[in-house]
This record gives sequence, structure tokens and C-alpha cells, in this order.
Amino acid sequence: MKKTIRDIDLKGKKALVRCDFNVPVVDGEITDDIRIRAALPTIKHLLDEGCKVIIMSHMGRPKGEPKEEFSLRKVADRLSELLNESVLFAQSDRVVDEKVKSEIADMNERVALLENVRFRSEETKNDEAFSKELSELGDVFVNDAFGTAHRAHCSTAGIADYIPAVSGLLIEKEVKYLGEAVEEPKRPLLAIMGGSKVSDKIKLIENMLSKVDMLIIGGGMAYTFFKAKGYEIGNSLLDAESIDLAESLMKKAEEKGVELLIPVDTLCGKEFKNDTEIKSVDADKIPVDMMGLDIGEKSIELFKSAISKANTVIWNGPVGVFEMPNFEKGTRSLAEALAESDAITIVGGGDSAAAAKQFGLSDKMTHISTGGGASMEYLEGKVLPGIVALEDK
Ligand code: AMP
Repeated sequence: MKKTIRDIDLKGKKALVRCDFNVPVVDGEITDDIRIRAALPTIKHLLDEGCKVIIMSHMGRPKGEPKEEFSLRKVADRLSELLNESVLFAQSDRVVDEKVKSEIADMNERVALLENVRFRSEETKNDEAFSKELSELGDVFVNDAFGTAHRAHCSTAGIADYIPAVSGLLIEKEVKYLGEAVEEPKRPLLAIMGGSKVSDKIKLIENMLSKVDMLIIGGGMAYTFFKAKGYEIGNSLLDAESIDLAESLMKKAEEKGVELLIPVDTLCGKEFKNDTEIKSVDADKIPVDMMGLDIGEKSIELFKSAISKANTVIWNGPVGVFEMPNFEKGTRSLAEALAESDAITIVGGGDSAAAAKQFGLSDKMTHISTGGGASMEYLEGKVLPGIVALEDK
């Protein structure tokens, strides 16, 4: 277990906090501030403890150079509105320099935000000198950016070599839910894996096979499994290099006694677009000139019945092209079943989080991970550098 901000004495300290303020910006305006709002509990906790809070974040991919479009100035303004107090934007294209150091040393505000850490090329190289420069701005390092915890960068991990390091409340929550779901789940444990490419999720599926009681494979990935079973898949998505892997995963599931469910029917479209000729067929009857774009009604019922038996469900990836209204039903039905279920429901970020949001069901899930890539790596059983660097309890 890692220490959190609840475990240490913070009175009067300067807390150097890594947040994930990688917010979408269109025409210079922030279009979704959920990531800034998500950081407020940690910031408020630190303020209540009498800390000065100095925040670091990245935004976009400025590739190690200062670029105005990726400046965090707008984020500082929004943070100030949300906190209802003035926030010092300690701007420098170098992120840290003498000017920033003296502004932080003399700050009257309780909260300061540094410029985008990726304005410095050293950041993503986890450069020791830049980590040290950053660390000198604070007494304690608080990592609360789960979305970048799978990266060993200066502001996510390197700083921990120089000052005491603990997690914020967001990372604490992620570790609690994701950790419990894989390490000590309320069984039966069901994982629903969707999305497009088998090769992207192979490690995740492999790791899940040794943890879960039931595993559902849906989405574009399912057709590689169909192919492995010898079915005609028409123009459906195929990850040709992964056919053998799909076959070996099915074997492994059998050996381990995991109930592996793949769709028994599929909703096909003639073309990859919403308004196209549509046909619902059994899994082994996909017409040669069509492609599977969603699971069919029988699969929806089969998968809903698995959900009803589960006490914990981990969902990663849509089971159809949910962005198109004609092919969203499978994903919507499963999301609704999860929302209605009494099971602990964990949504693994990325596209599944977007789907839950699209259907207005986000707040009916037990936990929606804030980090797509990071949650995948966590569930794959990988060690996340941004978490490993923190102090043990
Ligand atoms: P991933 O990034 O691998 O999680 O894949 C997510 C994407 O998979 C979403 O944009 C879905 O539209 C897409 N997807 C789901 N089912 C299918 C399918 N049957 N054919 C093609 N793409 C799909």
C-alpha cells in the first residue's frame, strides 16, 4: 500500500502536486473541464491542511518546446474560477527558472500552477537535473495524475527521488477500485473486453484469464476469434496476425475453467457508415460482402445474463461501433445492464468511459477510471512508475 496525503503531516508544507490537466481545447477555449474538477478534492484537502499548493501538468504534445497553443494559462484561469480564489500562474517557457522560483517563494496566493511541463524536452526523458529543479519548488510531492502514472517522467516519477512522495485522492481511488477488482474481487468476476484490435489488448486478455471467472469478447476484436473458429467474417475487422493468438486464448480459457463468451450473432452493415444496408445474422453466417458492426440480440441477452451472475465487472472497450446510432445498441444494452446491476462496476477509461457518458450512465457505475492507457496497464498487471515511486505505508 502506498502512502496518501491522508498519511502524512502536511501542516505548513509546500505541496508540489502533479495533476492531469490535459484538457481538450478548441479555438483557445477549454471544452471539458472534468479533469480540473476531478483534482479539486486533493487541492482542497491540501489547502485545509494549511499547505501552499504548487501544481504541475502537461497538456497535449508540445514535443519538448514552448508552444502558445499548449500553454496552461487558460487552465489557471479555470482553476481559479472553480476554487473561487486567485491562482498564481507562474509562467515560464523553461517551466522552472529564477523568476518562477522567486514568484513561488514569495507567493501570496495559496495555489500556483506552473507552465506545461512538456515545454521541456527533459520531462519525458525523466532527466535527473530537471526532476531536481522541479523538486526544489516543494517540500512534498503529491502525484494525483493517474492518466500519466504509466509514464516514467520527471513530474510523474523522477521528483520522488528528491522529496517525500505520496498519492493524492484521485490515485488513491483508482488504486483502491482497480486493485481490489483484480486482486481481491467479490466473485464471480466478469471482464467485458471490446474495442477494435486484438493485438492491443492481448496482454490484458491474457492477464484477465488468470483472474476472472467469466470473460466476454465483443467489438471489432470478436471477428478475429470468429476467424479462429473457422467462420466466414466477410469484410469485418480482422487482426490477421492475431488469429493464432485468439485460438490459443480460447484454449487457455478452457484449461483455466474460465467461461469465455464470444458473440453468437452479429449486426452487419454493408459499409462502415451509419446509413447502410443492415442485416442481423448468426455468428457463422456473415455475408461475404458485409461487416459485423455490433453484437446481435441473442448476444445481448447472453451477455446480460453473464452480467446478472457477476458480483464484479470490469468493462474495457465497446462491443460495437457505438459512435453510430444504428450500431450502438449492443454497447448501450450492456452499459444499461451494468448500471442496473448490484455488482461493483469498473469502467476502464477511454472509449468505454466515453460510451457510458454518451448514454448518460456515468454516475451509475461504481468507478470510471480517469486513465485509459494507465488503467489498461494496471489491469495487465504492469507496474506503473508514477505509483511505484511513491512511499510505502
Ligand atoms: P479501442 O480503441 O481498441 O478500444 O477500440 C474502440 C473502437 O472500436 C471504437 O471506436 C469502436 O467504434 C470500435 N469498434 C467496436 N466494434 C467495432 C466493430 N465491430 N468494427 C469496427 N470497429 C469497432
